[in-house]
Amino acid sequence: MIKRLVVIGNGMAGIKCVEEILSLEPERFQITIFGAEPRPGYNRVLLSKMLQEESTFQHIVTHSWDWYEENGVKLQAGERVCRIDVATGMVETESGIQEPYDILVLATGSLPFMPPIPGVRKEGVIAFRDVNDCETMARYAKTYRKATVIGGGLLGLEAAQGLLNLGMETDVVHNAQYLMNRQLDRTAAVLLQRRLEQQGMRFHLAKDTVNIIGRNRAQGLMFADGNRLETDLVVLAVGIRPNIGLAQDSGLTVNRAIVVDDYMRTSIPSIYAVGECAEHRGISYGLVAPLYEQAKVLAKVICGRETAPYEGTVPYAQLKVAGIHVFSAGDIREEGSEIAIMEYNGMQEIYKKVMMRAGNITGAILFGDTAESTSLLGMVRRGAPTTELTSQNNSKSKAEDAAEALPEGETVCACNGVSKGDILRAIATDKLKTVEEVKSRTKASGSCGGCRPLVAALVKNGLSRETASGPVVTPTAQEVVSVCGCTHYDHDSLKTAMVDAVCRTPEEVVSRLGWTRQQGCELCRPAVLYYLESLGLRNGSATNQLGIDVAVQSTLPYEGEVGSVGLSFTNLNAERRDCVDPAPIDQACGGVIWLRERLAAVWGSLSLPSPVAVAVSPGSEYPGGVLVHDIGISRSPAGWEVYAGGHAGHPVRQGLLLGLEENPEEVVLMAVTCLQIYRHSARYGEKMWEWIERTGVLALRESVLDATLRSELTGSLRSTMLTG
Ligand SMILES: Cc1cc2nc3c(=O)[nH]c(=O)nc-3n(C[C@H](O)[C@H](O)[C@H](O)COP(=O)(O)OP(=O)(O)OC[C@H]3O[C@@H](n4cnc5c(N)ncnc54)[C@H](O)[C@@H]3O)c2cc1C
Repeated sequence: MIKRLVVIGNGMAGIKCVEEILSLEPERFQITIFGAEPRPGYNRVLLSKMLQEESTFQHIVTHSWDWYEENGVKLQAGERVCRIDVATGMVETESGIQEPYDILVLATGSLPFMPPIPGVRKEGVIAFRDVNDCETMARYAKTYRKATVIGGGLLGLEAAQGLLNLGMETDVVHNAQYLMNRQLDRTAAVLLQRRLEQQGMRFHLAKDTVNIIGRNRAQGLMFADGNRLETDLVVLAVGIRPNIGLAQDSGLTVNRAIVVDDYMRTSIPSIYAVGECAEHRGISYGLVAPLYEQAKVLAKVICGRETAPYEGTVPYAQLKVAGIHVFSAGDIREEGSEIAIMEYNGMQEIYKKVMMRAGNITGAILFGDTAESTSLLGMVRRGAPTTELTSQNNSKSKAEDAAEALPEGETVCACNGVSKGDILRAIATDKLKTVEEVKSRTKASGSCGGCRPLVAALVKNGLSRETASGPVVTPTAQEVVSVCGCTHYDHDSLKTAMVDAVCRTPEEVVSRLGWTRQQGCELCRPAVLYYLESLGLRNGSATNQLGIDVAVQSTLPYEGEVGSVGLSFTNLNAERRDCVDPAPIDQACGGVIWLRERLAAVWGSLSLPSPVAVAVSPGSEYPGGVLVHDIGISRSPAGWEVYAGGHAGHPVRQGLLLGLEENPEEVVLMAVTCLQIYRHSARYGEKMWEWIERTGVLALRESVLDATLRSELTGSLRSTMLTG
């Protein structure tokens, strides 16, 4: 007989449990989920990315409306359950919907803690828990200037980063002596604070807020020491409280949260609890990894399958702020423990500390370089002996070492509960070649992103194993995994990683991104130099070469390696000599020469991923190879036609029309916009025609014709042109 399963809470734990049940017994239950939020399932962890404008809501939806329908799950979205009739087995919502159940799962999550500070209910005081909160912050940023986050923990700092990105002046008020004091020690916290201050955040540490001032809405904070801070928006990130009101009213045993045993059973038969609302062995967790583990156990229990008990999870934290790498796992307190390893590199701002007790690893902090985070998390979880902290093999990156040393059953992506074995199987079965493919196939690295280097290393190991044991595959342009043998990054992920790690010099790339050869090689050296320049990362004092050891650096100067890759123009005079009668083009030539000179002046000496040849012609009678140049500009009766992506060599490619402009100044800007987009999105060494074939001409055409974008992309170059 089909049993009726009701889940209260359409959050990450509730849906994960349903997903696991469907994978075990797709037909056995009639499933109804009640969700108070009027939305399909989404990844709450990625709200920070959404607030930081790195994602949109569409991107963080994990289960679309269609998913529920396709899986026969009835979703009652926007319906809050207000009563459970334990005697008859029925739940009721605030709007009066009644739903009987045979099995009930409570997955009601947490509520943000609103401290009893006078003024906390004023307009302009919010928490950071759901999509509405993100929308409120974005709305405030349009009207107001100043935001203050109370709480210098993980959530508070991610909220503050989002507010900064929204253009608000952002202060963080924290009542402890240093940031993230539950997860970090003072050294790591000071490094973190320094990096955040460089991004514009301001901190007020060891401050107790006693009042939120303002008449009708929040306008400032008052501290216990009498000082005040002006603000327009207050975001509270001072902790969460398990959402247990419903359980309490229904007579379930609750403590801080709903008390469950090792099989997620509550004190009432047929009722289970999972996620942040559950308390297991005295602990209620506030992270995804434990609740996913709980959901897997509960799914097996509900399906009547044999399962190991849930025995608790070692907590870990990873900050999701672009360019700042912080990781903490397990017990990092110094009382009762000893330091197994402590490394500090002040110049590179890298810090590593591993704690041990009786020779076993109990906790770890990493700042600046978190490549070892997953392997350390595994060691902390297993309470591994300190002998496992062996020195790194110099021929490989830390992530590769970690990937190789990791047992197959060990979790790589704690956010999504994906093990090394799952990833290797997916790589082998589906012939996956990139991290992105692994992400879409397994979800690994799809949430906080902390395991991305490890996933990349597994992809690389998987590929080299395939090449060593199977047929040698010649990779296509899309399949190329790494820039060269010095790194596991491909061109696209290298660009992202360089920005994330704020690499300003080749040395920083080598050390922060785990290069295997300190001097790099002919393939990666020019690519790194090019990306440092084109991404605007390179600082004035950057050295000319990739490598720390000055004595063994290549002698090629920076300008020589990158600067020569610029624009070149076909020689119009040579074309004219070939003409039978050059007189008719004399007038048109004026425009041609103006265009060429202006284009060269506006573009200046900015480097490009690959040399670009430009042809400008006075008309179709004098084609001048317009259609087989990277950029071709030709006069026509209606104006100037601009083409891109032509190629005269093998394979020959005909340039594609980008647009038509009458005004020669706009023609220059159109060509410059195309060059800017190419400069930003192409891979080093990729020819313009290859780039256009890979990314498509439609998007390029749209961008080039979009007047606002054109003006944004040409920015300062436009003023060069106007004044030039
Ligand atoms: C901004 C942010 C960033 C985070 N970053 C990380 C991170 O990097 N790593 C990490 O591990 N964790 C992170 N977390 C924590 C993680 O998101 C939570 O641990 C996880 O979402 C909890 O899942 P849950 O299903 O238990 O609760 P929730 O996701 O809160 O889901 C509970 C759902 O139940 C609904 N509900 C409650 N009561 C009722 C009712 N009576 N009737 C119907 N529906 C009800 C709620 O509306 C809610 O949608 C972050 C959290 C936030 C807010």
